[in-house]
Amino acid sequence: MYSIAIDGPAGAGKSTIAKTIAQRLEFIYVDTGAMYRAMALYFIRNGVDAKDETAINAACEKIHVGIAYEDGTQQVLLNGENVTGLIRTEEVGNMASKTSAYPKVRATLLDLQRDLAKKADILMDGRDIGTHVLPNADLKIYLTASSKVRAKRRYDELIAKGEEADLDQIEQDIIIRDKQDMEREIAPLKQADDAVLVDSSDMTIEEVVSCVVEEFEKVK
Ligand code: C5P
Repeated sequence: MYSIAIDGPAGAGKSTIAKTIAQRLEFIYVDTGAMYRAMALYFIRNGVDAKDETAINAACEKIHVGIAYEDGTQQVLLNGENVTGLIRTEEVGNMASKTSAYPKVRATLLDLQRDLAKKADILMDGRDIGTHVLPNADLKIYLTASSKVRAKRRYDELIAKGEEADLDQIEQDIIIRDKQDMEREIAPLKQADDAVLVDSSDMTIEEVVSCVVEEFEKVK
């Protein structure tokens, strides 16, 4: 069985790229960010303060995150409820970034992530997949882009959805999120020593996809 790990900062295009590659290679796509987001949704709904580690730890005991697939698309279950459509907001993303720094939050998801990789050829994306979750992945990609480019992509996405957006604010949020993810003590976002660095700032989606598929052909 093969595993591919794709890590990188918020808005680098990981999920778009990963979904396309998984389809092409007929791998199962696992979006680990969605799992942290599901936990974050629980904390928000239950008024758990992101700064209160004791409360976060207690809440973790009550959270069960599960993954299911519908027509090949990942669905995230929070205590049995399908929350896939509720976790893509900035509020949930920011809560996920803050709370993913806690050991107990990460431990809650680690076994689930590792178990998924034992069952099928998988392509998993996140922040610590190559460094921590799947250190023996067959291929590791570190996908990044400048914060300006990432903010502009996010801005275009929101505008396309008919939502209001402020480009400078989005870039500021991205910079804060990068800092939180890179500076946390446990499993921080960083490029694994054996990861291939792909900077997508000036690349199209298809160029990035081809580049990763080529890298996979080399290790297969
Ligand atoms: O990728 P996404 O924006 O959905 O991730 C939300 C947050 O979850 C990230 O900002 C990060 O803090 C956390 N995360 C993580 N480890 C992963 C995936 C996501 O800490 N493997």
